[in-house]
Amino acid sequence: NKPVKEASDEGGSYDIGLQDTEQGVVTRFPPEPSGYLHIGHAKAALLNDYFAHKKYKGKMIVRFDDTNPTKEKEEYQDAILKDCELLGVKPDQITYTSDYFQDLYERCVQMIKDGNAYTDNSPQEQLQKERMERKESDHRNDSVEDSVAHFEEMKAGTEEGKKWYVRAKLDMSSDNGAMRDPVIYRCNPQPHHRTGSTWKIYPTYDFACPIVDSVEGITHALRTTEYNDRDPQYQWFLKTLKLRHVYNWNFSRMNFIRTLLSKRKLTKIVDEGTVWGWDDPRMPTVRGIRRRGMTIPALQEFILKQGPSKNINYMDWTAFWATNKKYIDPVAARYTAVEKQHHVKCIVTGEGVPEAPRSEDKDVHAKNAELGKKKVVYSKQIILDQADAQSFGDGEEITLMNWGNAYVRKKTYSLDPINALASAAGQTARTITELVLELNLGGDVKKTEKKITWLSTDQELVPVTLYEFRYLITKDKPDPDDALEDILNRDTETKTEALADCNVARLKEDDIVQFDRKGFFRIDRAAKDGQSAMAFQIPTGKGM
Ligand code: ATP
Ligand code: MG
Ligand code: MG
Repeated sequence: NKPVKEASDEGGSYDIGLQDTEQGVVTRFPPEPSGYLHIGHAKAALLNDYFAHKKYKGKMIVRFDDTNPTKEKEEYQDAILKDCELLGVKPDQITYTSDYFQDLYERCVQMIKDGNAYTDNSPQEQLQKERMERKESDHRNDSVEDSVAHFEEMKAGTEEGKKWYVRAKLDMSSDNGAMRDPVIYRCNPQPHHRTGSTWKIYPTYDFACPIVDSVEGITHALRTTEYNDRDPQYQWFLKTLKLRHVYNWNFSRMNFIRTLLSKRKLTKIVDEGTVWGWDDPRMPTVRGIRRRGMTIPALQEFILKQGPSKNINYMDWTAFWATNKKYIDPVAARYTAVEKQHHVKCIVTGEGVPEAPRSEDKDVHAKNAELGKKKVVYSKQIILDQADAQSFGDGEEITLMNWGNAYVRKKTYSLDPINALASAAGQTARTITELVLELNLGGDVKKTEKKITWLSTDQELVPVTLYEFRYLITKDKPDPDDALEDILNRDTETKTEALADCNVARLKEDDIVQFDRKGFFRIDRAAKDGQSAMAFQIPTGKGM
């Protein structure tokens, strides 16, 4: 397989108008190591990479936002780095929020001592209710000594400490809920995958993010638009802690119809065994869509084209796969596959039929000779799809692709009255067991209605299992509170056993090909030792 061409960047024209870029640009992608990257994360990673590396020639950091030991694992950390690599995102530096735990702790102590933070132990519901009502907590004006003491209990992870959390003291009367004393530290005695049991307290994202961004030299913090309301809070932390300024810049969250983009829900789908794993071709993960046949340049183009938009909407997968088709169509070699269960044997007669089987080398792609040749075998014995045979009229002139025209001379039917295919379609036609075709190589291939795929049986036919996948979710726009089991599609896979031409034996895992009239496929497993190849149909945007 030839590599697909680079993503078209239209001359670096995806502009978002970042401010003050003359001083250099440093961006960051801050995944939490709590799952594999999905296509929404891919957008964030690619945008940060694009603006740092391609648009402004700056620097990009991948920072693990590893502040919640309950959800995070080393396995996910490694997976995310691999996912970035698959996306072509090359960080200049990899950092961890957990490396700043000491610094963050000291800054929190300082905030308490300066009267800018306090400890609270109101139950969760009360905290929420008071925040809605803009009511100050009873602990808001506790003494600095009391708050310092509670924070020390938290740090030690004592029974008492577990009841407390720290809040920054901003403005409980603000119209912006994000300003109403956000929680900045929590107690969690569970061991952390990197720092072990050193810490029993963990900073929240709201607190850690502005500090670490500033300390690491980030110039522009790109975030999804749900963070709009939290920008003033972010800036408040920078100002209060007298830290270097960082610009916030927001882009829209990516959503797709019939798709869940939440690590928590995707984890559930994986853990319950609904799919084969995080890289299942039905999963909206970077690995899943790649395994389904998405190429990285197409993904880059698709994301960067709509990157700067701030409209939040549900995208259709149609446009996504149509972009991919532009990249694969010119480089996908063409082969032939015929259904194994529902094929018909044909005898080819007439002038031009070889006495003994013969083969010819043909281009694997009619419009791209660079892709090389394939062997096409011609002989008296061929097979074709039952559905095609069923459609033939008596005496009809058809075209055998890569060969020429032929007349349908004789159809032999089985004794069993109804064939499975036809009966599924509510018809009473019988199975055709044999066809006789008479070649008419002088006939005009432009004049026939049917261009038929066929295979000579005088070659080593390669068994291939063709997979077609469907959406995992039945609802176009799932609500966050929809129960997973109510919206999960239980019927997401169709498998068809097929026989392919002898050239398919040389295909390797990851090759992208087209089986004529059946569609584009990615080879997930090569054929080997009589074991069939596995080929996943690649959506092209049509009929999804
Ligand atoms: P999830 O709920 O799937 O875990 P998250 O936002 O909590 O998403 P993080 O690992 O914290 O996951 O996200 C890393 C980065 O990816 C963040 O900058 C976040 O804004 C961005 N991101 C996450 N989901 C999307 C999305 N659907 N579209 C665009 N960016 C996203
Ligand atoms: Mg997050
Ligand atoms: Mg989330």
